[in-house]
Amino acid sequence: MIVFAFALFGLIVGSFLNVLILRHGIAHVGGRSRCMTCDHTLAWFDLVPLVSWILLRGKCRYCGARISPQYPLVEGACAILFALVAGLPGLGLAHIFLFCAIAALLLAIAVYDLYHTIIPNQWVWTLCALALVSQGLLIDSVSDALYYLCAGPLAASPLFVLWAVSGGRWMGFGDVKLALGIGWFLGPILGIVSVFFAFVIGAVVSVGILIPLPYIVRQFRNIGITPLVETHAGFTMSSEIPFGPFLVSSCLIVWFITGYGVDLSAIPLVGSLWSSFLP
Ligand SMILES: [Zn+2]
Repeated sequence: MIVFAFALFGLIVGSFLNVLILRHGIAHVGGRSRCMTCDHTLAWFDLVPLVSWILLRGKCRYCGARISPQYPLVEGACAILFALVAGLPGLGLAHIFLFCAIAALLLAIAVYDLYHTIIPNQWVWTLCALALVSQGLLIDSVSDALYYLCAGPLAASPLFVLWAVSGGRWMGFGDVKLALGIGWFLGPILGIVSVFFAFVIGAVVSVGILIPLPYIVRQFRNIGITPLVETHAGFTMSSEIPFGPFLVSSCLIVWFITGYGVDLSAIPLVGSLWSSFLP
């Protein structure tokens, strides 16, 4: 029941995240929503999360222009994340709300980074603050506190080295700050595991994307998304694939696998890799 309630709550928060992602740095978050193409003010029944987009088949009611699938995807993802958080065993309501806020921030950061290859400072610092608060609730001694304070810098250090060595070409400083927040959120060991898995996911996806890239760009354009690669004429592997989405996916995977106590030992390669990392 509580899982269902939080899924609905996630849909609403997801549609707010869409506005935040779209208008960050461009316009005020307040104000009525308008069609991006015909500028018609949208009615409440055009703005029901997920439902409106499906009923309108992804087109504007007034001018027929395509509406980006980003809207239903972010709403759906936020609903799933909130449901997963609410279903975590042994959480009180306050903790659920705190974790939902962290999940929503991670989602917004990943999507924004995907579009703009940059991570807004306010979002990532808010994430860091919430992560410290969530750890603070579990700490009951000074040595514990020191141990967890180290978690952020520890997780961020590999990315910091890559950023420093490459002068920001291989890795943005936003990614360093994001890893700082993820480290503080997951703790020292899982934070490092999460950064490591982000590189694994990144490598797999990069190879998977770069080879059929022209085909993928065409498909994205067909469904109405202008892929970020179009906005960067000199697209190269090193500079323009955003790392934030990999960090966020990895963090979510590590978080929920450990949170739900999923046993990975049955999967040959992944299982042994995973158990070799955990104490
Ligand atoms: Zn329109």
